[in-house]
Amino acid sequence: MLRSTFIALSTNKPLRRFSERSAVGRRLSSRFVAGMEIDEVMRAALSLQNLGIASTLDALGESVHSAEEAQKHATTYHQLLDGITRHKLTDSNVSLKLTQMGMDLDPSLAESIVRDLTAHAVQANSFVRVDMEGSPYTQATIDLVRRVHSLPGNRGRIGTVIQAYLYRSEADIKTLTADGIRIRLCKGAYKEPAELAFPAKKDVDANYIKLTRQLLTSGIFHGLATHDEAIIRDTKRFVDENKISRDSFEFQMLYGIRRDLQHALVKEGFRMRVYIPFGPEWYPYFMRRLAERPANAIFIAKQFFRN
Ligand SMILES: Cc1cc2nc3c(=O)[nH]c(=O)nc-3n(C[C@H](O)[C@H](O)[C@H](O)COP(=O)(O)OP(=O)(O)OC[C@H]3O[C@@H](n4cnc5c(N)ncnc54)[C@H](O)[C@@H]3O)c2cc1C
Repeated sequence: MLRSTFIALSTNKPLRRFSERSAVGRRLSSRFVAGMEIDEVMRAALSLQNLGIASTLDALGESVHSAEEAQKHATTYHQLLDGITRHKLTDSNVSLKLTQMGMDLDPSLAESIVRDLTAHAVQANSFVRVDMEGSPYTQATIDLVRRVHSLPGNRGRIGTVIQAYLYRSEADIKTLTADGIRIRLCKGAYKEPAELAFPAKKDVDANYIKLTRQLLTSGIFHGLATHDEAIIRDTKRFVDENKISRDSFEFQMLYGIRRDLQHALVKEGFRMRVYIPFGPEWYPYFMRRLAERPANAIFIAKQFFRN
């Protein structure tokens, strides 16, 4: 009930406009969003680097309404890649959304932006991760990533995300790994119909574990994005039992979520990457985080009134 309320609120335009412009809104968002400016996300990434944690940087924004807006987001991403080089972030990359690059307006515009960013990532010794959005974009995202990955020099420089809640994901992993494409596995954050996605959380969790095994035995470096302690425990056991190197994959978590677990895994010798979002368009992202764990709303409100 609360989950669907927050998901519904995440698309509420007047509330979004009000929140993103208000100082109170910005302060509330700071629990999950590293700031509004590039300098702030660089500082957050450097702090994590000092703790042995890699990062992926996300300039927040979804579903643009003009080609100019898409180009503006592309420019921010080029600045992020320059910042990664300038600040000597040795293991940092970028995560972007295709709708932010104009996918709904003109798929060829989105593809040319992603092609240019991947070329820049090659120069910067970095990597482009194309986030996965709702199911209307699944096939188009996979196809676009495969095309850009197949261009000369791009092998291993662009990857995408697979969502364990979708029935199709096992087959998609087969296709992507056959091309040598790196995958981030997550549970999935969008509202999907029962024809396409497991409705029960326990089935999503079981599929996540099954797909984790498929990835860990693929011989390609993948990211396991979850804060689920039971899944992480199972993965550690599987890796130990099968003598899989701790360097051959990474765990990924979101900025501000389960920092205790992030640090504990690094101490145990696992690789950890944190997804750091920033920017003025924080509202839908923030609401999705509240939807995942409505108790966060109470936690954030308490912190707000304590400060
Ligand atoms: C690095 C990264 C990238 C992602 N990229 C995508 C993407 O491209 N596309 C997509 O659809 N989804 C993406 N997601 C979101 C993902 O699909 C899930 O919605 C989200 O990670 C919550 O699932 P979980 O695996 O942590 O498990 P859950 O079962 O939801 O949570 C397990 C435990 O984690 C903790 N937890 C989870 N969420 C929160 C929270 N918001 N606040 C506090 N504690 C929390 C709680 O302790 C909870 O009990 C990404 C997630 C991560 C970590």
